[in-house]
Amino acid sequence: MNAVVAPLPSPVATVVRIETVLVDLPTIRPHKLSVATMDGQTLMLVRVHCSDGVVGMGEGTTIGGLAYGGESPEGMKLAIDSYFAPVMAGQDATRVQALMGRIGRMVKDNRFAKCAVEAALLDAHGKRTGLPVSDLLGGRRRDRLPVAWTLASGDTARDIAEAERMLDLRRHNVFKLKIGARGLAEDIAHVAAIKRALGDRGAVRVDVNMAWNETEAARGMAALADAGCELVEQPVASPAALSRLVRRFPIALMADESLSGPESAFELARRHAADVFAVKIEQSGGLFAAQRVAAIADAAGIGLYGGTMLEGAVGTIASAQVFATFDQLHWGTELFGPLLLTEEILATPLDYSEFSLEVPNGPGLGIALDEDRVAFFARDGLRRTISVAR
Ligand SMILES: [Mg+2]
Repeated sequence: MNAVVAPLPSPVATVVRIETVLVDLPTIRPHKLSVATMDGQTLMLVRVHCSDGVVGMGEGTTIGGLAYGGESPEGMKLAIDSYFAPVMAGQDATRVQALMGRIGRMVKDNRFAKCAVEAALLDAHGKRTGLPVSDLLGGRRRDRLPVAWTLASGDTARDIAEAERMLDLRRHNVFKLKIGARGLAEDIAHVAAIKRALGDRGAVRVDVNMAWNETEAARGMAALADAGCELVEQPVASPAALSRLVRRFPIALMADESLSGPESAFELARRHAADVFAVKIEQSGGLFAAQRVAAIADAAGIGLYGGTMLEGAVGTIASAQVFATFDQLHWGTELFGPLLLTEEILATPLDYSEFSLEVPNGPGLGIALDEDRVAFFARDGLRRTISVAR
């Protein structure tokens, strides 16, 4: 005979309404990758309104629209408005993992959109309980995160000048160069010139964004090691090729695009296909999933690096709250996304100083939007009205 199960207590807070908005912001300079050149970034901001009056926010971004993967900011907005919102309405907002599980049963894939919604639910629950998101994730191990800067102007002299300025400001001393769009010899000369100019004052790494074949990668990695480059990120697309390239050269090999959540992390670890994982909350499919990726890396003896999808402040801090909980973070982070944008959309700007980013300690994500500026830069918002009026 079945025991009588007592009904669950009624939830403290349920999801009342989901709101999404696209915000278009210019970048400080063209950002050149092997897959795209970005002149601006679109943030998909999501707000989850709860029955207790708490509102949580999250963010979804991509790199170069659809150039990087299957999701776009516009697609995330559509998915959340049309498919996530009905699944979430009326559900207990305080049981974040259970609600994300419910969404996962009704919505396949859409990792970036799921990440944005999960961040918003965690922000809301943190505000409700008075705890930072890092505490909801088990507690932080550090309050500041080292932040690398990406040199991607496409011009060697301009990149060196930019690096010198970052060193003077004590904002960054680790530099990632985007290569792979030009020929191998030209790229190697570019990297070597920058490393020569910076010497021991700055570390140099490269990101090829899968632009090389395996033969080019073998030649490239040998030459990069000679040039003093300490790490190469995703030189080729194939995990099998990564596993053949790893540890053949005195330069660390990092997986990025190949890493699309815990299952891929397990597969890469099983194949010994990387020395380092670039963990991204959006690529992982959420904050909890990013922690699972980190756990697999720890178990496999793989180093960790906190990656970015060039998120604005909301996605950057959601990432920071997770990375602050990692046991080891030997390779630091690249959470510079907000610094690539010309416009501040927070009420209080983030603290980037002493080569690092401070992880906010307030409830939830610990940040507040400047709502007037968000409204101004919203697609079809005030800025557009003004430009049309002119
Ligand atoms: Mg990358």
